[in-house]
Amino acid sequence: MSVPIPPFAEERRADLVSLHAALLNLIIMLESLLEQQANSSLNLDYFRWMLADVRGKLWIVSWEIGALGIVEERLREVSIVEDGNICAVCIDELKIGDEASRVVGCSHVYHRECIARWALENHTCPMCMYDILE
Ligand SMILES: [Zn+2]
Ligand SMILES: [Zn+2]
Repeated sequence: MSVPIPPFAEERRADLVSLHAALLNLIIMLESLLEQQANSSLNLDYFRWMLADVRGKLWIVSWEIGALGIVEERLREVSIVEDGNICAVCIDELKIGDEASRVVGCSHVYHRECIARWALENHTCPMCMYDILE
């Protein structure tokens, strides 16, 4: 008989999201390290394959633990009222009418998608390093 899996402990969610972000960060660092090893005589294909596999599995788990939900709780939709500011994630302009979000803790503003994706992977504000998941 299989042991039933205990229900998801809500208070553990922030820890899991934090772990998820740290793992993603590690994968991104390893991927850029691998890129620099393109001419290496070592056969790194299996390592590459493993990284891609872990990245895919992490992505699936991110829905299970509600990582995006937790990130979005820390962001507020804002409307852009003037042109000229730059989104520090994509280094493109924040234009009037763009979907944008403000980090609740520090008030820095980015494109909505840019900061949601960024926060999932890095969990700090790219401009002031405020911990978005704090
Ligand atoms: Zn952007
Ligand atoms: Zn900030």
